[in-house]
Amino acid sequence: MDRPDRPDIYYIIPDGYPSDEWHLTKMNFDNSEFTQALQEREFTIAPHAQSNYGFTLNSLAANLNMRYYASSRSGISDLDYLQTEIADNKVARLLLERGYTYLQLMSGFLLPSPIADENLEFGVNGAISVLPTEGQLSSQRVLWGYENEAQVQNMLKVDENMQMPFAPLYFETTQLRIALPLLEDLRLASGNTPFGLYAPRRFLATLEELERIAQRPEATFTIAHLIKPHGPLTFDAKGNTVEPTWYPSAQAYEAELSFINEMFLNTLDSILAASDGQALIIFQADHATTWGRNNPKYEPPTQFDIYAAYFLPDGFDLELPQPFTMINSFTMLLNEVFDIGLEWQPDRLYAIPDGYDTPFEQVDVTEEFLQR
Ligand SMILES: [Zn+2]
Repeated sequence: MDRPDRPDIYYIIPDGYPSDEWHLTKMNFDNSEFTQALQEREFTIAPHAQSNYGFTLNSLAANLNMRYYASSRSGISDLDYLQTEIADNKVARLLLERGYTYLQLMSGFLLPSPIADENLEFGVNGAISVLPTEGQLSSQRVLWGYENEAQVQNMLKVDENMQMPFAPLYFETTQLRIALPLLEDLRLASGNTPFGLYAPRRFLATLEELERIAQRPEATFTIAHLIKPHGPLTFDAKGNTVEPTWYPSAQAYEAELSFINEMFLNTLDSILAASDGQALIIFQADHATTWGRNNPKYEPPTQFDIYAAYFLPDGFDLELPQPFTMINSFTMLLNEVFDIGLEWQPDRLYAIPDGYDTPFEQVDVTEEFLQR
């Protein structure tokens, strides 16, 4: 059961959500209304938070295991390695040891976790429990950076059948291969079909699920990875779905952001109300924005400055250091709440010039980009 010394923990990852400073300096867009709304709810904002990598898989693996990833393991593809490090991560193991129920909300991008109590997918009939031993795994394995518009259209649809609809596309466009028995065994529960990776309804259903989880009596640790404001843009300011586009105008981007901010606030309010102030909420992007890039390759100045805000249970306080990079965010939070003495890591930033083609060919750009 959750209780004051074992608060529910929500790790909400708004994919590609940049800092207010980035919005202001790069887009002349003032996002401070959202930040103020979080501050009114007693969130601590980390205005200079940075991700250590500019790519989701590297970044989440580092964040959830509180260590850097400089090389892969032999006998397994680099991307499979990062995916499995995310799926079976140190933060979740520490919390499982402390009696937590671990829930992973499937984003369409990450793999189901073999150590989670539940992996939840989303489809037209609601949440679907994904059993790591049945079904298919291809919809989790679509990687962005390789898509074209036709593929994106496919990903926005509800899958029409259960015959690995993404697989041919997937294997044509990436060199990722199934390498571990673990991965070969991962399966979706039969009889239900998940929303596409970028489906607007996946975003909304994930937030609804977070609100349901807040009602559960167990002490839960939930990871919710949401592919917003990462492209493609799919909403207008009122939440109507619009023609998906990877390269929206600044105006369209801001319109969608105002809608998703409103949705995030609604969900955070539901969590706070249900937990009576006794939750730990980590609202932290995995890397900064892809907006304004006409090339999926790396552009260093835009990739590290992330949005990060934390809500701590009553009685706990954060002293944010500067510089502050997300390799240390769980170290900071778990040390504060559980007093477990995790060791802080040095703050380093790594460029990955060829992205997911070679995720371990990294260039240390700490001196150039770290916000000291
Ligand atoms: Zn990402």
